[in-house]
Amino acid sequence: MPSLLLHAADPQWRPACPGSLREALQELGLIAAGSASEEPAEFLVGAQFLQLVTFLGCSPHVVLDPDDPEQGQTACCVRLLNYPEINFVSARPEPAVRCANCRAPAEPSGPHRSDESYRCEQCGKESGLTDLDWRQGAGFARCFIEIVGIHPHEAVPSDKLLNTLRAVSGCGWKYFYA
Ligand SMILES: [Zn+2]
Repeated sequence: MPSLLLHAADPQWRPACPGSLREALQELGLIAAGSASEEPAEFLVGAQFLQLVTFLGCSPHVVLDPDDPEQGQTACCVRLLNYPEINFVSARPEPAVRCANCRAPAEPSGPHRSDESYRCEQCGKESGLTDLDWRQGAGFARCFIEIVGIHPHEAVPSDKLLNTLRAVSGCGWKYFYA
């Protein structure tokens, strides 16, 4: 299933205590209370979901009720993904990444690690892999909020959701599709 993934701009960030992000998202209404499964924690969407995730099309084919999916569709759910180290999550195939400075195509080799750097062949600027333009198709983080069932560019997080995440984490948040 395609997903919208959100993560803190600081790839090292993770919740100070394990339940704090879940509690904040429950209070906000992104996820329903008491619907968690085992790791990875998976939740039903909460009552405010459609106020927190903005669908861009005029008639989004979004399914929220897991008991009432249309044929061939799966209901949206939310997963909280936590990793002990910074993890690279990407769309398949990987996005055509670009230098954030000059927009030239970048070709970082090998497994993508957040502490690696890349020197642009076009403009010569050296930047961390996390600072390349991944075209909203990949990200580095220890903690991701995955909203399952959203196709690329079908929906975006609302300002209210992003502001809440900023308040929880003390830094801005990014999002991508995978
Ligand atoms: Zn460049």
